[in-house]
Amino acid sequence: MRKKVIAGNWKMNKNHREAEDFIQTAKNEVPSSEQVESVVCAPFPFLQKLVEETEGTSLKIGAQNMHFEESGAFTGEVSPVMLKELGVSYVVLGHSERREIFKETDEEVNKKVHAAFNHGLTPIICVGESLEQREANETMDVVETQVKKALDGLTNDQCAETIIAYEPIWAIGTGRTATSEQANEVCTHIRKVVSDYVSADAAEAVRIQYGGSVKPANVDELLSQSDIDGALVGGASLEADSFLKLVEAGK
Ligand code: PEP
Repeated sequence: MRKKVIAGNWKMNKNHREAEDFIQTAKNEVPSSEQVESVVCAPFPFLQKLVEETEGTSLKIGAQNMHFEESGAFTGEVSPVMLKELGVSYVVLGHSERREIFKETDEEVNKKVHAAFNHGLTPIICVGESLEQREANETMDVVETQVKKALDGLTNDQCAETIIAYEPIWAIGTGRTATSEQANEVCTHIRKVVSDYVSADAAEAVRIQYGGSVKPANVDELLSQSDIDGALVGGASLEADSFLKLVEAGK
C-alpha cells in the first residue's frame, strides 16, 4: 500500500509573515506522517525558518527547484548541498513553469534528479502535456518521454523512491481540472512506463501525484483513483485551512 503524499507548491507567493502564520497553523494540525506525507514547497528565502519551525512535526518542507551542481560560478542559483544543509526534505523538479518560462530541458531535469538523490533529497518530478499536445492525442507519448528521460540512469531503488507528479499544463492554475478518469488514465500509463523501463517492483512503489487545480472539493474523487497516490497543489495550498483539508483527504 503506497502512502499518499500531498505537497503544496506556493510558487512565488507570500511574505515572511504570511509564511510563518501558515506554518504555525498547519504544523500541529497535519495528520501523522504514518498516515500521509504532508509537504510545503516554499520559496528559498523562507526555507530555513520553516524547517526550524516544523522540526519534530509531521509537516515537511520542500524547495521548488535547484541547480544540479554542488557549487560554482552559477550566479543566482541554489545547490542541492545548500538545501540539504538547511534540512529540506523534498525538491520539485521540472515543473511546467520552469520548463516553459525558464526553458528547462529533460536533460537538466535528469541531472537535477540525480543530484537530489546524491544529496538525500526526495525529488518530485513534474511531467505533463500542453493542451495542444492533448488535442493532438500526444499525451501518453509526451509523458512517457518525460518520465524515461527524468529517470534515466537511476538505480531501481531510487526510481522506487521517486515521486512523479502528473500535471497537465492546461489544468494548472486554470481552475480546469482533469476528470479523475483522465488523470488516472495517465497515471496508470506512467506506472506502466516505470514498470517497462525500470522494473515491476519500482512501478509498484513509485508514488504518482496528480496536479492541476486540485482543491478540497475535488481531492477525494482524485485520490480514490487506483494510480493516484497524492496531489501537488498550487493555489489551494496557499491557505492553511484549505491545505489541511487536502492532507486530511490523503489519510
Ligand atoms: C502547481 O503549481 O503545480 C499546480 C498544480 O497549481 P494549481 O493547483 O494552482 O493548478
